[in-house]
Amino acid sequence: MIEETEARRRILEAVDPGPVETVPLGEATGRFSGREIFASVDLPRFDNSAMDGYAVRAVDAGTGAFLRILEEQPAGTDRGLAVDPGGAVRIFTGAPLPAGADAVVMQEDVRADAASGRIEILDGVQPGENIRRRGSDVCASQRLLDPGDRVNAVRTGLLASQGIVKVEVFAKPRIAVVTTGDELVPPGTERIEAGQIFNSNGPMLAALAAEFGGSPRQFHAIDEAESLRAVLAEALADADAVIVAGGVSVGDRDLVKAELRNLGVREEFWRVRVRPGKPFVFGMAGRVPVFGLPGNPVSAWMTFMLFVAPALCRMRGENRERLATGLPLPRIEALAAERFENTGDRPHYLRCRLESDGRVRRVGAQESHALHGLSRAGVLVRLEPGEVREPGDAIRGYRL
Ligand code: AMP
Ligand code: MG
Repeated sequence: MIEETEARRRILEAVDPGPVETVPLGEATGRFSGREIFASVDLPRFDNSAMDGYAVRAVDAGTGAFLRILEEQPAGTDRGLAVDPGGAVRIFTGAPLPAGADAVVMQEDVRADAASGRIEILDGVQPGENIRRRGSDVCASQRLLDPGDRVNAVRTGLLASQGIVKVEVFAKPRIAVVTTGDELVPPGTERIEAGQIFNSNGPMLAALAAEFGGSPRQFHAIDEAESLRAVLAEALADADAVIVAGGVSVGDRDLVKAELRNLGVREEFWRVRVRPGKPFVFGMAGRVPVFGLPGNPVSAWMTFMLFVAPALCRMRGENRERLATGLPLPRIEALAAERFENTGDRPHYLRCRLESDGRVRRVGAQESHALHGLSRAGVLVRLEPGEVREPGDAIRGYRL
């Protein structure tokens, strides 16, 4: 049995970033940048007005001053105008700032008199007011994205604002999800016999694999050596990573380890000191990582988050050292709403919720089959063996 951090470190050392491909920006959304991306243009691209109003010299535009309206500068074209002393240029949001102007008076803060062609300043401005300076958001050559950063909607917009139309993203790793067990039937099966259950790990692990950037394909094997071997061989033939769920424990029907070995998979370690998730097994089939997850649904989810998710993040270029330190989830520090104690000899992850007063309380059944409890959790608390937290004590965990 090895420690959780040691297990993750060894997995991260065994997997490497995968290949990248170039796709149109619209298809990059939701995927992961394959390289660093640098800005090529300043944003804003030119000094411009943040308001509809009048471009002025602040020194001329104190409260009560009268200014001559010179010309009009709309957005979308630079008329090359200038503001002379005592003058004001009518301007609109996003329009280039005329030479000589160093502030914009909002139109709400002037009284315009069409007959005299003048404005009266009702509320004076300071230099720089209502002006968006060139490069104040982004400077050309500034780094915008790191390898492994998700191209979310905002970043899609950011890249578009640079005029970018193609993006290098990591190719989606092909992930084989193999569930095992005689008792399992696919959801949708009309007649479910006594003793059978619906396969929930297959859909859950496929969803997780997709969430972490992979392209999943599901397989199922019964607990019989030869057919299991055949399914595992098929899964291994065409995958960048293989996840097997169930059959990795010590029961007579737990055949996964033996059949992986028969297929030439090199077992790196088996069993990790963590609860839930102890029977986790990790091996390598050449360069292809193989993750054996316990079948209990919460254990399967937990070991995916502890060991598979960091590996998938690494396969898309994320920094190995950063991933080694914990789960790829946002951390949270909060106060305990009730007493927590880990009386066991393994670190324990507990499914909790964050209450409206910011305190953390266990939610639902904590057993490793209890998927509903997990589904209601918003916080995952980690307790070391022997650790006790009294109500009101600080408590650490992850945000789900
Ligand atoms: P195992 O690790 O194969 O001993 O399975 C442990 C428990 O998880 C058993 O109660 C199984 O029925 C259950 N289980 C295994 N695989 C799945 C699955 N794909 N979906 C739902 N439950 C499963
Ligand atoms: Mg089983």
